[in-house]
Amino acid sequence: MTMTIQELSTGTDHERIVFCRDSEAGYRGVIAVHSTAAGPAVGGTRYWTYATEEEAVTDALRLSRGMTYKNAMAGLPLGGGKSVILRDGGPADREALLRAHGRFIERLGGIYMTGEDVGTSPADMEIVRLETAHVAGLTGDPSPFTARGVLRAMGAAALHRWGSDDLAGRTVAIQGCGNVGFHLAQELHAAGARLVVTDVDPERVRRTVEVTGARSVPAEEIFDAEADVFAPCALGGVLNAETIPRLRVEIIAGGANNQLHEEADGERLLGRGILYAPDYVANAGGVIVLGGREILGWSNELVRERVEGIYGTMLDVLRLAEEQDVPPDVAADRLAERRLAALVDASSTG
Ligand code: NAD
Repeated sequence: MTMTIQELSTGTDHERIVFCRDSEAGYRGVIAVHSTAAGPAVGGTRYWTYATEEEAVTDALRLSRGMTYKNAMAGLPLGGGKSVILRDGGPADREALLRAHGRFIERLGGIYMTGEDVGTSPADMEIVRLETAHVAGLTGDPSPFTARGVLRAMGAAALHRWGSDDLAGRTVAIQGCGNVGFHLAQELHAAGARLVVTDVDPERVRRTVEVTGARSVPAEEIFDAEADVFAPCALGGVLNAETIPRLRVEIIAGGANNQLHEEADGERLLGRGILYAPDYVANAGGVIVLGGREILGWSNELVRERVEGIYGTMLDVLRLAEEQDVPPDVAADRLAERRLAALVDASSTG
C-alpha cells in the first residue's frame, strides 16, 4: 500500500484495523472493528474487486462505522465491524480464501463476528466456520424480516407525510425484485398498495408480476414512474444528482444499503420536498434477526417485536429531522449516536 493504514484512518475513530495476508492461500483481506463499546463488533464479509488496497481499507472503514450506527439504531447491544476479501482478477481457490479469512477472525478472539454480505453466501459462512466460531448468518434467509421492516418504515413515513400510515390505494415503485424486493412486493400487495416494479432480471420481474399483479417497467424508467413511494431494493448510490430531479414520488423507503450517492443527496431530496426514510433504519430487519436470534439468543417473538419497532424508530428520526431542520439521514446519525451512548451506559451499569 502506498498509504499506510494509519494515514488512511486519520480522522476516523476505529478501534482496530487489520490488513491480513496469507500468500499461500492467495488471500488479502481487511478487518475493521469500528466499535465494541456496546458489544462485540458485528458485520458481514464482503468479497469484492477493488482497484487498490487503499480502496479496500477505505470501504471497510466506512462500512464498519455504518454497522455501529445500524446496530445501535436497531437497539442491539452489539458493536460495528466489517471485513472485506480482495477479489483478484484471476482464478481463486474460494475455500482457501475463506478459511484464511476465518483464521484471521479467530485471532481477534471474538471482538469481531462476521456473516454474509455482498459477494458471500451462507454456504461461504459454513466454510469460514471451519476456522472460527465467530460467524452468524447460518440460520436462513433474513430478507423476509428485512422486507417487513421496510414496510413498517414506509408506514411511518406515510404517517409523517400524509397523516395516515394506510398504504392501501397508494402506488409504490420498487426497484429490484430480488430477496427483499419480492417479499416487500408481497407485503405491499397484501396491504392493498398498487405496484410498479422493475429488475434487470426478467425472470424476477415475471415472478413478482405473477404473484402481486404489479405493472412492470424497464429498469431505467423506474426513476420516472409516477408513484407515491419509491422503494430502492437493488443497488446502492441510486439517489444522486442525476436521478433525484427525475423522481415523481413523495416518499422514499426501501431496503437497499447506501441509497444516497453522496451526502449532498440528502439535501437534494429535502429541496425537492421528497421525504427520505433513511436506509439503515428501514432495512434493519435483517440485522435484527441475525444479531438478535443468533448472537443474543432472542426469542422469535422478541425478534418480531423489534422488527415491528422500526416503525417507531423511523417516526423518531423523521420528527427529529423536522425539529432540528436537517435532512433525515443527518437526524438518523444523531439519533444513532444517542442510542449508542445509552447502550454503552446500560452495558457499563448492567
Ligand atoms: P438480491 O441480489 O436478491 O436482489 C437485488 C435485485 O436487484 C436482483 O434481482 C437484481 O437483478 C436487481 N438489480 C440489480 N441491478 C438492478 C438495476 N439497475 N435495476 C433494477 N434491478 C436491479 O439482493 P437482496 O438481498 O434483495 O438485497 C437488496 C438490497 O438490500 C441490497 O442493497 C442489500 O445490500 C440490501 N439489504 C438486504 C438485506 C437482506 O436481508 N437481504 C438486508 C439489508 C439490506
